[in-house]
Amino acid sequence: MIAITSSRPYDVLVVGGGNAALCAAITARESGATVLVIEHAPKALRGGNSRHTRNLRVMHEKPTATLTETYAESEYWDDLWSVTGGKTDERLARMTIRATSELLPWMAARGAHFQPSLEGTLSLSRTNLFFLGGGRALLNAYYETAERMGIEVVYDTEVQSLGLVDGLVREVHVMSMGVPATVRARAVVVSSGGFQANINWLRQYWGDAADNFIVRGTPYARGLVLRNLLDQGVAPVGDPTQFHAIAVDARAPKFDGGIVTRLDCVPFSIVVDHQGARFYDEGEDLWPKRYAIWGRLVAQRPKQIAYAIMDSKSEKLFMPSVFPPAVADSIGDLAGKLGLDAMALEMTVRRFNDAVRPGTFNSEVLDDCRTDAISPPKTHWARAIDKPPFLGYPLRPGITFTYLGVKVDENARVLLENGQACANLFAAGEIMAGNILGEGYIAGMGMAIGTVFGRIAGREAAKVALH
Ligand SMILES: Cc1cc2nc3c(=O)[nH]c(=O)nc-3n(C[C@H](O)[C@H](O)[C@H](O)COP(=O)(O)OP(=O)(O)OC[C@H]3O[C@@H](n4cnc5c(N)ncnc54)[C@H](O)[C@@H]3O)c2cc1C
Repeated sequence: MIAITSSRPYDVLVVGGGNAALCAAITARESGATVLVIEHAPKALRGGNSRHTRNLRVMHEKPTATLTETYAESEYWDDLWSVTGGKTDERLARMTIRATSELLPWMAARGAHFQPSLEGTLSLSRTNLFFLGGGRALLNAYYETAERMGIEVVYDTEVQSLGLVDGLVREVHVMSMGVPATVRARAVVVSSGGFQANINWLRQYWGDAADNFIVRGTPYARGLVLRNLLDQGVAPVGDPTQFHAIAVDARAPKFDGGIVTRLDCVPFSIVVDHQGARFYDEGEDLWPKRYAIWGRLVAQRPKQIAYAIMDSKSEKLFMPSVFPPAVADSIGDLAGKLGLDAMALEMTVRRFNDAVRPGTFNSEVLDDCRTDAISPPKTHWARAIDKPPFLGYPLRPGITFTYLGVKVDENARVLLENGQACANLFAAGEIMAGNILGEGYIAGMGMAIGTVFGRIAGREAAKVALH
């Protein structure tokens, strides 16, 4: 741990301690720059949301030791286009996609190890590189590499504002364990993530409902740097009101629950609100195409709570959450265990069962098991809930990240509202991901954008600092 002093000049200052930050720091140091990384979290919690990740989406023209078949630029682009509905900067997106083809050897040379795709991970064995030991192992390897290279890291230190004058950062104001300080650097990379952990900011758009949101990742993603830059005339990108959210177990901790709180049981259940009423087609499409809408659907329900109800036929069809389900031999008893009105839930299940039409169940495809004459319908995997024991999970909206960010060019330079590129300010990772992911999400894209732009930002920041 080094002390923050205003006298020591750095070539490159990196704000944040997640994947994008470490990729930028390592690249800048390899280019010959002196580098300081400022991470708000304490050392034990370093690594932001990146430490919760498992994989990264890469274009590749032949199979590797852990990736099957091929994944061409055109298919990657089509996948991105379809999830964003065209809300993407094509030039930056295609550049990112092509650059992912170089990532495997780059990451491996800096300590990353890979493994074949995990089971139950939404069929990603062809498209996504899985990190052995997950994101935490990856980040620990990067930190070790960084320290070996002489990169300095300070923890427990929040960057509070950047002095930006005519597109030039002159100084950076920080609070280090309660002590204010000013840091100077020739170039700055901001990689401090989104603002999803700032419940007050979310409340501006969602009102009191925001109090019931669960933040899947780091509590340090409060968006202070993002807010400060936007207030100083940096061009915004992405819808400030929107976020990526999935259904998580309502018993998850408020922050940092990570991947194990996700619930993938929706297609094999009915989902009811706090009054025991269904509200959306649980079988609308294959789960990888629908899991990311369920956070918002639950967020829009009264009290931001919902319950997945199923019977024993469905128990083994999905990866369970880390919490056990409520289990009962009757729907009425199950309602009691979940705090629902027994008569209301019994009536919902009875009406649903009556609406189920005969079909051949197949969890792997869009099967013909559907309901008839009920609203909302369940268009696939609809089977009567009639075989005890009955199971239930409480659901809450689990926010992964917000979409608002800063606009950048292909050199990761931050752009001002007047179109001018900042001379010595660069951005990488979630804080600029909205340039490419204007809406929607495909698995592994967050780490792809962070790694590609982290490397670009580190290279360009070092160039500015050293010349
Ligand atoms: C549970 C979960 C699973 C995920 N799984 C995947 C996956 O498998 N693949 C994938 O591609 N994406 C995944 N994502 C998304 C992925 O985590 C992000 O896209 C990616 O980690 C963003 O990296 P980043 O470096 O920009 O941000 P982060 O890793 O969040 O890092 C931001 C850093 O900035 C620090 N910070 C914030 N504000 C300040 C400040 N003012 N001063 C100093 N430091 C500050 C934080 O402490 C943190 O270290 C997942 C997200 C979650 C929550």
